Formats: sequence, C-alpha cells, structure tokens
Amino acid sequence: MASLISSQPQLLSQLNERKVLQVLHSHGPSSRAEVSRLADVTRPTVSKAVSSLLKSGLLEEYDAPENLRGRPAKKLRLAVKTAQVLGLVIDAPTCCLVSTGLDGVVRSETLCEFKTPRTYEQLLKKVTELVSQSRSLAGVRTLGVGISMPGLFDYRAGLSILSPNVPITNKQRLGADLSRRLGLDCVVLQESDALCLAERHYGLARGVDDFAMLDASTGIGLGVLTASRLLKGSNGLAGEIGHLPMDPNGIPCGCGRTGCLETLASDTALTRLVSQRVGRDLDIHQIIDLVQADELNVAAELDSVAQHLAFALVTTINLFNPQTLFVHSRMFDIDPLLFERLIERTEAMALAPSFRSCHIARARGSKHEGAIAGILAHLTDSRVSQSNSHSLEAL
Ligand SMILES: [Zn+2]
Repeated sequence: MASLISSQPQLLSQLNERKVLQVLHSHGPSSRAEVSRLADVTRPTVSKAVSSLLKSGLLEEYDAPENLRGRPAKKLRLAVKTAQVLGLVIDAPTCCLVSTGLDGVVRSETLCEFKTPRTYEQLLKKVTELVSQSRSLAGVRTLGVGISMPGLFDYRAGLSILSPNVPITNKQRLGADLSRRLGLDCVVLQESDALCLAERHYGLARGVDDFAMLDASTGIGLGVLTASRLLKGSNGLAGEIGHLPMDPNGIPCGCGRTGCLETLASDTALTRLVSQRVGRDLDIHQIIDLVQADELNVAAELDSVAQHLAFALVTTINLFNPQTLFVHSRMFDIDPLLFERLIERTEAMALAPSFRSCHIARARGSKHEGAIAGILAHLTDSRVSQSNSHSLEAL
C-alpha cells in the first residue's frame, strides 16, 4: 500500500504530461497558456509537464512569427526538428523503413524499400544498418521504431507464431531483438492492427470507433474495431480470414494447408495468376504500370480474384456487422471500376440488412503509417505506463 501511495504524485504528473501531448497532437502548435486552457490544467502544472517532456525530447519550444502586438510568442509543438520515430514494415516481397517527426507527418523522401532478406539474421542486419544511417542525421534524436508484422503474432510473448508470407520471422521476437541491437523502444503491431491505426490517424476512420479493415494485399487479414476496442481473440490471433479453407484441390498456402482464401483473393493471388499466364514473374506494381500503359490486359484474372474477394467482404459483413468496412488492396489501382463491381457482388451475396447498414470504402492508410501511429501511441502511453503493449483506446 505504501508504494501505491508514494507513486500517486508520479502517476498524476504522467497523466498531465499525456494531456499536454494529446492537446498538441489534436490542436497543433500552441502556447503554454493555450495548452493550459485546452487541457484544463493550471499554468504551473503545464510548466512542470512541459519541462519534463522537453527533457525527454518529445516536445520543442520555438519562436512563432510575431503576434498582432508585435511580440514574438513562444510556442510548443511535438518535436519535428530535434527528434524522429521510425516505421518499419515487414512484408513480402519487399520491406520498407520510413521516418517522421513526432507530429506523425510521414517524410516520403525518407521511405526506403528493400527486398525481404532470405534469413532472419540478414533481416536484423539490414534493418540495423538502415536505422543507423537514419540516426546519423545530425541533431536528430530517434525515440523508437514501430513495426508492422504479417502473420500470427502473440502480443503477450512478443513472438511471431506463424508468418505464411514471411516465414523467416517464424518463432522470432523481432521487436525484442531489434530493441536490444538498436537500444531503442521497438513496438510490434500485427499488420491488420497497423492498418486499423493508420486509417484512424491518417485515413477515413478519424473519430470512427466501429469499423472493420480487410487487408487483401500480400495475404488476407482482418482487423475489427468495436466500440474503440480491437477484437483480438483469446490469444490475439483473431482475424485470420485469409486462411479459411476454400478449395481442397487448390494450391499450397504458406500456412501449410491448401486452397486458403488468400491464395485466391489477394494482390499476391492476382500477381501469381497473371505471372503464370504471361510466363514471367511480375509484381503488383509492374502489373499496374503495364495495364495503365495498355500493354497488358488482366480482366480475366481480376474477375476471378474479385469473385473470391467478395466472399471475404460478405463473411466480414455477415459476421461482424461493421458500420464501415475498409478494404486495403492495390488491385483497385488496376481498374477504376473494380471497386464498384466488388460492392455489387458483395450486395448480391450478403445478408441484406447487414449490407445496407455497412458503408464499404477503400482504405487510405498504409502499413508504414500504421507502424508510425503505433510507436507514437506507445510513446504517449509510456508517459503513464512503461508497458510495451499498445492501446487503441489511447489514440
Ligand atoms: Zn493458409
């Protein structure tokens, strides 16, 4: 009991620091007086919280342009000149790393794509090199790395259980391994969760607390947010819609079974079908470029993939009755009418009342934005708790 009482003032300070961060996050650069008003805390409390946040590198104070009375005003903002965070996406066939300030605005010029390494050790080496390069930028302090991971991920153990598309991470603890090598906070999010966060921070789900995110890019995964809570299942493994068995005579899936939905309905399924027909390996970017240049017609393959993808939408709508269903996939860049046709097919198969109450939209957020949102949420959260878990509720 004694330790609980003695920790209360500290907890209160941390809660105030979090309030200051949240005000600057939602209102942008503000003076101390504005922060005091918006956070509804006294000036001395703001000063104390700000001084601790400046020391930890999360905030910057700067001279804003002169105000109407001709006096320069000191303003506070989330650190953008003196600190950065990194977002890492583990995926196939490529991974990527990107940096942002603590305002979360992605610096697209820093986006670095690299081929997914063949071994886990090579992956650690490559990421360590790229992070070191990024950290060597003069005067910039790196506060952490958010990581988007595909496959089944056990949050409590920080362990990748099974990654059908990036098997080098199977049975590995990438967050802990990178954290040890880099000496930085590294926070892992399963990629469907990363896309949910991305949509909430950068996309169309700002302020929406009930939606589903169907990712049909490399594999197929599902994130479901109900009343701001992410549905995770007893072991955090919920949402693996991509491994519904569809075709007993189908092709082998990375999960070890045969004919799973993701072998039929993802960007990867489309690239495989097209590559087989044209007799050479094409990735989704190449297919988009060739179709747009009128050098390739993939209507038949798109039709087959969209038919199966509609099944994934119907399953999601019938099972979870989401207010909004976001679909994340690059195949919509191939044909501007594909999304509309997908919705029509979904309507024909879904339960009518569930379909009518569901808005279906193309996701805007990306996995790297989700990785960034994850580390930013962690930094804000860790002002209150030093746990390595992430919480959508805090966003
Ligand atoms: Zn499978």
